[in-house]
Amino acid sequence: MSRSAHPAGPRHADVLPEGHYSAPPTDLNVLDHKVWAQTVGRGEDGVVTVGGVPVTRLAEEFGTPAYIMDEADFRARARAWRTAFGADADVFYAGKAFLSRAVVRWLEEEGLNLDVCSGGELATALSAGMAPERIAFHGNNKSVAEITRAVEAGVGRIVLDSFQEIVRVAHIAQSLGKRQKVQIRITVGVEAHTHEFIATAHEDQKFGIPLAGGQAAEAVRRALHLDGLELIGIHSHIGSQIFDMSGFEVAAHRVVGLLKDIRDEHGVELPEIDLGGGLGIAYTSDDDPREPHEIAKALGEIVGRECEAARLRTPRISVEPGRAVVGPTAFTLYEVGTVKPLEGLRTYVSVDGGMSDNIRTALYDAEYSVALVSRASDAEPMLVRVVGKHCESGDIVVKDAFLPADLAPGDLIAVPATGAYCRSMASNYNHVLRPPVVAVKDGEARVIVRRETEEDLLRLDVG
Ligand SMILES: *Cc1c(COP(=O)(O)O)cnc(C)c1O
Repeated sequence: MSRSAHPAGPRHADVLPEGHYSAPPTDLNVLDHKVWAQTVGRGEDGVVTVGGVPVTRLAEEFGTPAYIMDEADFRARARAWRTAFGADADVFYAGKAFLSRAVVRWLEEEGLNLDVCSGGELATALSAGMAPERIAFHGNNKSVAEITRAVEAGVGRIVLDSFQEIVRVAHIAQSLGKRQKVQIRITVGVEAHTHEFIATAHEDQKFGIPLAGGQAAEAVRRALHLDGLELIGIHSHIGSQIFDMSGFEVAAHRVVGLLKDIRDEHGVELPEIDLGGGLGIAYTSDDDPREPHEIAKALGEIVGRECEAARLRTPRISVEPGRAVVGPTAFTLYEVGTVKPLEGLRTYVSVDGGMSDNIRTALYDAEYSVALVSRASDAEPMLVRVVGKHCESGDIVVKDAFLPADLAPGDLIAVPATGAYCRSMASNYNHVLRPPVVAVKDGEARVIVRRETEEDLLRLDVG
């Protein structure tokens, strides 16, 4: 695995040998709720159901492939984050993981705020009636039009990412006769990923302003002196798919150090810090993610301790989970098209989607699991690679997994934990149509993002 696969891949570096896979599970019919949404289960007839609806009915009604989202599970996870962090903290759901108008309404109802990072995400949030003050606007290169729209709409905060942007946002706010609440995103030199973190990571990346060399302090100096800006805090986001809290510990230490410097230099105690997102989920049974209440407790203690040591009032904390809210809530339902055994190697199982609906395996070497869901089977496990229908040999959905040896065309299989960064990163490669997102709850299924059609494709192609 290459280091460039870091952003959401399973491991930091070449930890596992090529072709690593766990031993086959003793019973392939068992569904591990670490990776499957809460209401998913296998009925007595062997068919898997979600929210009380059999997947065979979902396939019939909505077709395959389809992202099937367990609404109760989404709401429960959102609520768990909200409850864990309590009234003295804010939870911003990272919309880039998956955003739709239904999701925006669920977030509002469950008391979460929202991160957006483009005009399109902002438009989606506003069109669903999200209160603008609950929206944070991120990105390393927001356009003037995007910033103007955000300031006009009255977003709760804009997270400033560069020296140019400090001036740009100040100028736009001032010309609109407003004072915009902002945070400054800094890079603290911590890079966290899965079970490891590096405390002296190179700040060689496009996001944020480096703490090193006094650059963050200089950014604060400038922001504090611009009339169009109200600097409310410092922002730090250290990585993704993180299981270990020690990276946050070092990041919080450095952020609080900056708050202290700001107090000493300007006599100002900034009221907020944002520690970003990146909390890990289980993609396979080997992963052991932290619960929101453990994370809240750990972060609260870390920040409290650091602030006490620095004699600062404890700032209001915000966090920005994306994957940890939506990732486990959905699975992708596919129909098997071909089953191709390669003697002495493995069996290739082709499904009716692929890298266009899940690019994470190709992009990050991500690991997933898979199960036969349209029936139970007592057949022996066979080592499979689940591949898509694209004209690309890297079109792999699940690299190594076990499925029953009697698997046949027409069977439905499902890949769990595809709620985050799958639909939101979906493409039209090979002019394949992007699948729908179907929300299931209490025995009812409804489309929240419809399947793309050939008319949709051709509408963009003006000839
Ligand atoms: C991507 C991102 C997040 C969410 O990351 P997850 O891994 O989905 O939790 C939060 N904050 C910022 C600034 C991000 O870029």
